[in-house]
Amino acid sequence: TGPVIIVGAGHGGYQVAASLRQAGFSEPISLINDEAHLPYQRPPLSKGYIKGSAGPESLMFRPEKFYQDQKIELIAGRAVSIDRAAHKVLLASGATLPYGHLVLATGARNRLLDLPNANLPDVRYLRILDDSEALRQIMPSKTRAVIIGAGFIGLEFAATARIKGLEVDVLELAPRVMARAVTAEVSEYFQDRHREAGIRIHLGVQATSIEAENGKVTGVSLSDGRHLPADLVVVGVGVLPNIELADEAGLPVAAGIIVDEYLSTADPDISAIGDCALFTSPRFGGSLRLESVQNATDHARCLAARLTGDKKPYDSHPWFWSDQGDDKLQIAGLTTGYDRVVLRGDPARKAFSAFCYHGDRLLGIESINRAGDHMFGRRLQSMDRSITPEHAADESFDLKSALA
Ligand code: FAD
Repeated sequence: TGPVIIVGAGHGGYQVAASLRQAGFSEPISLINDEAHLPYQRPPLSKGYIKGSAGPESLMFRPEKFYQDQKIELIAGRAVSIDRAAHKVLLASGATLPYGHLVLATGARNRLLDLPNANLPDVRYLRILDDSEALRQIMPSKTRAVIIGAGFIGLEFAATARIKGLEVDVLELAPRVMARAVTAEVSEYFQDRHREAGIRIHLGVQATSIEAENGKVTGVSLSDGRHLPADLVVVGVGVLPNIELADEAGLPVAAGIIVDEYLSTADPDISAIGDCALFTSPRFGGSLRLESVQNATDHARCLAARLTGDKKPYDSHPWFWSDQGDDKLQIAGLTTGYDRVVLRGDPARKAFSAFCYHGDRLLGIESINRAGDHMFGRRLQSMDRSITPEHAADESFDLKSALA
C-alpha cells in the first residue's frame, strides 16, 4: 500500500490509524490534525464536559505515548490540496506528504447563521473542544440563553444551561424538536421534559435578528414578531460536510464525498469515511451520509480491514445516543421512513421505546431510559431478525425469546 495519510484526526481518522496498527499494518501512518489537541471524543462536548470541570485530557482517546509507541505520526496542520497524479498532499505549512493511500476523514463544520451580529463573541457554536471550553468559561457570567435549533446538540446544551441556572429559550423552525431524526412520540416526550425543567421551547419560528449594544448581545427577534432578551446565543442549525479538498481534487462530491460500498472514492487510492462521506449502502438501498460516532468508527474499521487485505462492503447497523438532562435517548437502526410506531413501556413513567415499522418491517427502535430495549434492538438487527408490532407492544412478551 505504501504510507497511509489520514486527513482529519477526529473519531474516524483516529480509529483508522488505531485499527490499521491493530491489524498489523507496518507501513508509515500519518494523521493530519488541524485541532490543537490530541485526538478526542466529541459527544461529551455538549454533555458531561460542558457541565463538569474535568480537563481536556479527560476527552482524549489515548495519551501521546500511544501514538509514539504505535508509530502513528501526528502532524499538526491543515491539508489544503491533493495532487492525485503525484500522490501527494499539500499542507498549509507548505510541506508535501507522499501517500500510498489517502484517507479523507474531514468531518463536518457548523452551518453558520446568516444574520447581522452573528459573529459577536456572545454568539456561539458547538463543534470542537475549544467551543465547549469557551462556553464553559462564559456561562457563569450569563443569565439568559437563546438556543437556535432544537436538534440533538441544541437540546443537550439547553438542558445543561438550565441546570447551570440560566434562563433558556429554544427556537425551532420545524413543528417539533429533533424532527428529522426521531418520531413524533419521542419529540413530544422531550418537549415535555425540557418544558418541565423550565426551558421555553418555541416551535415553528425562526430568529430574524440578533440585537446587540456595544458589541454585547441583548436579545433575539423572532419571525412571529416576538423579542426574547438574551446575553448568550448558541446556534445548532446543522452541519456541512467538509468536501472541498475532494472536490478541488476532481473527485465526485454531492451532499458528501461520494464513495462506494467499500468507502472508496472514484480514485482507488483515496477513501473517505465518517461525517464527510456519502456512501453507497446495499443494506439501505441508496446513498447515505450519517453523523454519528458509530458510523465514523465502523467506517474506519471497515477501511482498515480493506487496507490490510480483508475487503468487505460496509454493512454495519447504525446506532446513536443523546443525553438530555436526566434522559438518555438511544436509537438502534435508521427509523426514517416509518409508517407505523408501536410503543413499549410508558412515557408517563419516563421509560419507553418507540418501535418503528415500515409495513411489517422493523426499521429501528428509539429508546428512552430503556437500555435493555436498545441492546435488544441492536442484537436483533445484527441477527437480521425482526419482531412483530404485537409482540413489541406487549410488555409481557419476553424480548429475549426473539433472539433465541
Ligand atoms: P470529526 O470527528 O468531526 O473529525 C474531523 C476532523 O477533521 C476535525 O478535527 C476537523 O477539524 C479535521 N479537518 C477537517 N478538514 C481538515 C483538513 N483539511 N486538514 C486537517 N484536518 C481537517 N454522535 C453520536 O453518535 N452520539 C453523540 O452523542 C454525539 N454527540 C455530539 C456532540 C457534539 C457537540 C458534536 C459536535 C457531535 C456529536 N456527535 C455525536 C457526532 C459525532 O461526534 C460525529 O459524527 C463524529 O465526530 C464524526 O467523526 P469524523 O471523524 O467523521 O469527523
